[in-house]
Amino acid sequence: MTQKIRIIGRKKKIALIAHDNRKQDLLEWARFNKGSLSHHKLYATGMTGKILANELGLQITIFQSGPLGGDQQMGAKITEGMIDFLVFFWDPLEAQPHDPDVKALLRIAVVWNIPVACNRSTADFMISSPLMNEEYEPILIDYKTRIKRPNILEK
Ligand code: PGA
Repeated sequence: MTQKIRIIGRKKKIALIAHDNRKQDLLEWARFNKGSLSHHKLYATGMTGKILANELGLQITIFQSGPLGGDQQMGAKITEGMIDFLVFFWDPLEAQPHDPDVKALLRIAVVWNIPVACNRSTADFMISSPLMNEEYEPILIDYKTRIKRPNILEK
């Protein structure tokens, strides 16, 4: 069963995050797509946001650094409907101190069916999609039946 309760507007709320070994990659991608990105509202974790804002002059709402809770902040914003597009270049070759937060963020992005790019080719396809300039209504799975639990209180 599905429920439709969210609309991703023409102006997207885009989260940008990269682990240290992927920051250069994200910076290059963002530089190439600066024109498109400037039409949307941008959010980033601490160090990623500082680099993108300094190097490209983009207006970005900057959260805490990832290891200090930035990924969790981003996940909470997705849940609240305040982020509707995630570009997250995570490092496939190095463990992170905040790996549980990384997993949680990727999980919550799936729960809310927002577009997620974890590498440049996916990010290229996403940003060049005609849907970038249109409203989009993600189909949300109704998880109510899945999370139904028996009454755990004693009678
Ligand atoms: P940072 O965090 O942008 O503060 O480096 C990214 C992350 O590791 O999640």
